[in-house]
Amino acid sequence: MDLIRNQRVRTLTQLFKDLKKPLKRTSRFELLESVRKVVLELEANTPGSEELLELFEREKQLLIQTKWCDVEVLRKRQLAIFLEIIKYSEQEKHDNKRMCEACKKIKSVDHFALRTRQNAVDTCNRCFNLKRGSNPNNSIYIAMLKAIQREERKKGTLSSHAFILQEEDIRFIVDKIWHGHSILSKKSEISNLRLPRWIKSQEWSPWNCVLLTQTESHQHNNIIELKKLYDDNTIKEVLNRHALAKTAFKKLQAVEYEFTESGDWYDVGVKDRAV
Ligand SMILES: [Zn+2]
Repeated sequence: MDLIRNQRVRTLTQLFKDLKKPLKRTSRFELLESVRKVVLELEANTPGSEELLELFEREKQLLIQTKWCDVEVLRKRQLAIFLEIIKYSEQEKHDNKRMCEACKKIKSVDHFALRTRQNAVDTCNRCFNLKRGSNPNNSIYIAMLKAIQREERKKGTLSSHAFILQEEDIRFIVDKIWHGHSILSKKSEISNLRLPRWIKSQEWSPWNCVLLTQTESHQHNNIIELKKLYDDNTIKEVLNRHALAKTAFKKLQAVEYEFTESGDWYDVGVKDRAV
C-alpha cells in the first residue's frame, strides 16, 4: 500500500473509533466537523460519501433542535457506511464501484442487475433477489412475462422491450399502471389477465400494451379497428396509462440505446429462448 493511502486509511480508522465513543454534545459536534472535512477530501465519487455527509448533517440538526433525541439508528447507519468507505479506501483499484442502497455495501457494477424503471432503487443483486424471494406471488408475473416474450418471438421481434424487463416490472405495470384490473370489464382475477400489444403492428412495450382478461384479449387481437371494441373515453384512458408507463420506464429508453449500440440487445432475447 502506498504511503498516502496508508495514511488516509489510518486517519479514517481512528475517526471510526472516535465516532463509536459516547461523547458530550460539544465534543460530538467537533468530531463531526473534523470527520466532515476528511470525508470531503476523499477521492472524488467515493460511493456513499455524499450520503454520509447528509447523515452527519441530519445528526447535527437533531442535536441542535432537540434537547434529547435518539440518534442511535442514525449513528449505526453512519458507521456502516463509514466502514465501507474505509474498506474502499484500502483498495488499489476503484473502477466501477457503487454503493447498494439497501445493504450499503460497496460493490462493483457487475453485482448490480440492469434496472429498467425510473424510480427503481439501486440495489445489488443479492438484496434484489432477497426482496424478490420474499414475494411468493411472483410466479404469476413470471408467467405473464413469458407469455409476452413468447408472442414477441413469434412475431420475430427479438429487440422488444419485453426481453429486458423482469417480473417485478410486470407486477408494476399490472398493479400501478392498470390498477390490477381489466380496462374493459374491471375484472381483477390475476390469473385470467393478459397484457397484449395495444397497437398490434408495433412491438410490445410498457407503453404499447393493455390489461385485459383472456377472452377480451382474444377479441382485441382479432379486431382490426380499435374503435369497434373501445369507446372514446376508454381509448383516452388507455393513452393516459401509456403516458404514465413512459414516465415510469424512462430508463428503459436509455437502456435500449445502450443495447442497440453494443449489440448486446440481441443476446438478451436469445438467452431466454431455451426457458
Ligand atoms: Zn445490497
